[in-house]
Amino acid sequence: MFKALVLNQVEGKTTAAVEELELNALPAEDVLIKVDYSSLNYKDGLAVTGKGKIIRNFPMVPGIDLVGTVEESADSRYNKGDKVVLTGWGVGENYWGGYAEYARLKGDWLVPLPEGMDPVKTMQIGTAGLTAMLCVMALEEGGVTPESGPIIVSGAAGGVGSVAVSILAGLGYNVTAITGRPETESYLRALGASEIVSREEMAEPARPLEKQRWAGAVDTVGDTILARILAETDYNGVVTACGLAASFKLPSTVMPFILRNVRLQGVDSVMCPFERRQEAWKRLQTQLPETSVGEIAQLISLQDVPEYAEKITNGQVKGRVVIDLNN
Ligand code: NDP
Repeated sequence: MFKALVLNQVEGKTTAAVEELELNALPAEDVLIKVDYSSLNYKDGLAVTGKGKIIRNFPMVPGIDLVGTVEESADSRYNKGDKVVLTGWGVGENYWGGYAEYARLKGDWLVPLPEGMDPVKTMQIGTAGLTAMLCVMALEEGGVTPESGPIIVSGAAGGVGSVAVSILAGLGYNVTAITGRPETESYLRALGASEIVSREEMAEPARPLEKQRWAGAVDTVGDTILARILAETDYNGVVTACGLAASFKLPSTVMPFILRNVRLQGVDSVMCPFERRQEAWKRLQTQLPETSVGEIAQLISLQDVPEYAEKITNGQVKGRVVIDLNN
């Protein structure tokens, strides 16, 4: 028997409860994993509360991330005792995920844990941190360097934002953080932000082109903030867009693209190919400053997940939340 957070649908509403299940309740896949830690992402919040239409088939074990140890494997690439990390691929959405002591998954979805990488740190990073690194890689591929000028990060006190601020500052970029929570200023400065701007100021609708301020951006929120960032981006700048914490809308114009050569680069972590994931995880191991990792994350138990799911969908979680499946 093992414990899992199980979502059901009762009279059109999503319910979440910790249940005891038998191992044979797990879906038939290649690799059985003893889950050590999972994490809470914005998408998990939407799934567990039912506020977003993330899950279509119930019962479902949510949790889009996990790190654990292989128990049994029908995939020749993995053996009992191997440490593996999983993010995305629709796990925790279409397939049973990480909010359980055991999971059975496809070998294709797994990434071997980089040598020396601590399992807790892996989930302190999780999908949010992986996405932050994919944004940083996209900025670099667009030619943005620390010498290019300041980088702006929106939703900075959230999961993706916190890790992005920390990685960029560690790489020598000058980082400006956008937050709607002034009380997080000292936290964001500790992660390496040199300037803080208010969400309110950045959410003001922009003219098609504004004064150039940013060499690059990591946007996690969309809507008028992303539109303003685009209007304020330097000639040849790169804006990476990975989130919709404000909304999925983008009330912008083509002017930044056709007059300033600005690049808007989408970033998806869910279907990101294996080689790119592996590169991102390797870089996270060395390029996310150790001091930041502890600052960013808090540890909770499986029972606490519904409460924190509600909080993350209300923008009340600072940094990252790790779920301990060992007790
Ligand atoms: P969090 O909830 O941890 O962070 C989101 C942050 O956005 C909040 O902390 C808050 O930051 C800010 N925010 C919240 N509501 C609003 C609002 N109405 N207007 C403006 N800002 C707001 O979520 P994550 O960091 O886990 O995810 C961020 C986004 O990225 C989500 O939309 C998520 O779905 C997306 N995402 C996409 C991925 C991909 O593969 N493309 C992968 C992972 C996440 P503050 O208080 O500092 O203002």
